[in-house]
Amino acid sequence: MNNFGYTRTSDVADAVRQIAADPGAKFIAGGTNLIDLMKENVARPSRLIDRYPLLSSAILAGASQQLRNMASTGGNLLQRTRCFYFYDTTTPCNKREPGSGCSAIEGINRMHAILGTSEHCIATHPSDMCVALAALEARVLATGRDGQRSIAFAEFHRLPGDAPQIDSNLRADEIITAIELPPKGFAANYTYLKIRDRLSYAFALVSVAVGLDIEGGTIKEARLALGGVAHKPWRDRQAEAQLNGAPATRETFLHAADTVLRDARGFGHNDFKIELARRGILRALTQAARGTPQSQADKRIK
Ligand code: SF4
Repeated sequence: MNNFGYTRTSDVADAVRQIAADPGAKFIAGGTNLIDLMKENVARPSRLIDRYPLLSSAILAGASQQLRNMASTGGNLLQRTRCFYFYDTTTPCNKREPGSGCSAIEGINRMHAILGTSEHCIATHPSDMCVALAALEARVLATGRDGQRSIAFAEFHRLPGDAPQIDSNLRADEIITAIELPPKGFAANYTYLKIRDRLSYAFALVSVAVGLDIEGGTIKEARLALGGVAHKPWRDRQAEAQLNGAPATRETFLHAADTVLRDARGFGHNDFKIELARRGILRALTQAARGTPQSQADKRIK
């Protein structure tokens, strides 16, 4: 294989500018064919131009290769919680059987939520991909009897409230037809940090997706979303507002982490998640600011 350059781009206009400036360059998406072609010297690009690395990093952090081959984007959004009581039909579970009670609140709840919980359910949404989609502010296109509509990603999943049996705001007659990504991909300063019990094939205890737009050491725009901590990918607009316009420093990041976790509550076994999330947010913001994203090829957190 020839030596080649690699650059990331944040928007379509920049991608077009970059390829126009280097006729030997190629765009890379998943790279499943292009990398083969390069290994066999069939394709010899001078440079690869990549977009949405935050999203691809989150997808690579999820499940196993075999599962990812079978998985669909719509199915990822609509997957049910992995709360073990939900799958155990001998135990009460308000999500499976409304009004029966929640076995997790007083039970084994190490994997459960610390934010946005209710007295009826403390389950988490298990997706990695959705955390990145939340940070990127994707939109979900759905079609039903009343036609097509576009749903902001933040409005797609629900908190449990008093109706934990309803996971999303997708209507019963609607089918997901597309996911739209906005032009801005935060490709220069991003990370997806996933902390889990095993290095592979495990759900997140805490995950953090970060996209930063930094100029001269100052954060112009910040996106921060957490997985493994709530019934939906968790965004905190107040914490993001604090980051916007602030210097990209440890103090700024810790302040944002404290804001995200100001109402966090543990249920015994999962108390550790509050400190884990605080450290995860600090680590993820630091990685993103430095332009040293978490490698999904080497999942150890250094
Ligand atoms: Fe059921 Fe939710 Fe309680 Fe789990 S946390 S037992 S899914 S109600």
